[in-house]
Amino acid sequence: MSELGEPDRLLRGHFDRAQERRYVHIPFDVPRGVRQLHVAYEYNDRIPADPLVTGGNTLDIGLFDEGGIDEGSPGFRGWSGSEKLEFTIDEQWATPPYAPGPIGAGTWHVLLGPYKVAPRGCDWAVRLWFDPGITEPSPLPPSARSNSAASLPRARGGWIRGDLHCHTVYSDGDSLPRDVLVAAGAAGLEFLGVTDHNSVRHQLAYGTGGDGLPIVLPGIEVTTYGGHWNAWGTDRWWEFRETEAPVVAATMRDAAASGAVVSVNHPKPFGPAWDYGDIAGFHAVEIWNGPWPRLNTVALAFWEERLRRGERIAAVGGSDTHQLKTPDPDARHSPRIGAPTTWVEAGPRPTVAAILAAIREGRAFVSASPRGPQLYLDPDGAGRACVEARGATGCALLLISEAGVVDASTIDADAASRSIAIPAGTHYVRAQLVDRTGDVRALTNALWAERL
Ligand SMILES: [Zn+2]
Repeated sequence: MSELGEPDRLLRGHFDRAQERRYVHIPFDVPRGVRQLHVAYEYNDRIPADPLVTGGNTLDIGLFDEGGIDEGSPGFRGWSGSEKLEFTIDEQWATPPYAPGPIGAGTWHVLLGPYKVAPRGCDWAVRLWFDPGITEPSPLPPSARSNSAASLPRARGGWIRGDLHCHTVYSDGDSLPRDVLVAAGAAGLEFLGVTDHNSVRHQLAYGTGGDGLPIVLPGIEVTTYGGHWNAWGTDRWWEFRETEAPVVAATMRDAAASGAVVSVNHPKPFGPAWDYGDIAGFHAVEIWNGPWPRLNTVALAFWEERLRRGERIAAVGGSDTHQLKTPDPDARHSPRIGAPTTWVEAGPRPTVAAILAAIREGRAFVSASPRGPQLYLDPDGAGRACVEARGATGCALLLISEAGVVDASTIDADAASRSIAIPAGTHYVRAQLVDRTGDVRALTNALWAERL
């Protein structure tokens, strides 16, 4: 933004490798009477945030106003990761995901996070302009609604399908919330968990959904340097700057206590991984993130290890879709919304509360897409498991307990049912569909012993 002339404030510094993954807050003063703030930053050896790319610098940025930097502070104006090298905050508008509003006089802080630091270090500079007179970009036209979902196979009564993980321009996605919601509806989804990184500003842009569009589950992907976790059913930001496992666990417990449903996201290599070991405090594990072959077997094992210990944690899936307009160069992300799909038993009149309850209680299964396969697991009350598979012809059906595979068969009809005896003393069973290449196509949550 050289046309803006000399900045009103110039902040500079250097990070070395010892400071990697540790946030710092850089103070600056804002005088009275400012109505617009523009921020631009730069640094050497810039590389993408993708964990597969190393050897350079990735510097995350956020902003706190005069309201302060404490945990949960209303002074948090936003965090844009390393996606945007400049942004504007005006009284009336702001670059997503930043919050517009009064530019109060006092001490503000730039939040800098050296996610990756190059061997020769990171020299950074942040420039700030007061009242540069930038006009709000004109809004993009909305995309048209589509009803291509009309031909989807029906779900069992009371069950609906959705995606629990996606991104917009409010973090590192390429589309506006309304366009992501329209795309989710066109794909046949009936609910959408909206999970931009360290932001809740996207929730306002999404609205509540419904009325012919998917129901919006207001969420956030809490993005820390030791792992990511989703919270759905929350409208506030949660502490992401700390990487001490007890702090992360306490934050997850606080989010859960507030009524949110909390999941550990993509606990697998390059997910990014989950570095917090055995902390508790979450309801669910994202056992399927993006395309199945992207190391989701590791996430599935993370969940299964906890099931074997008797921890009643739910399995969920999320596409992690970032781009609708152009192909996503990051192969970890699903190329389309709803791949995978999470199906929940939310009853005849689904609400946000009913969907959250179904996830929390594990009344859910995950499958490859909104078209299926569908996989339902029910007890018969007499020691047998009833499995119903739809759209799974040619797949292997596995029934799995804490002891391993209890039963295996091949599905040879579009609508197939099995009644399978459960060995006495079994703690839980779950069902899984696997195709002939060995890829999982659908899996259920665990059915625990007292229901068998
Ligand atoms: Zn993530």
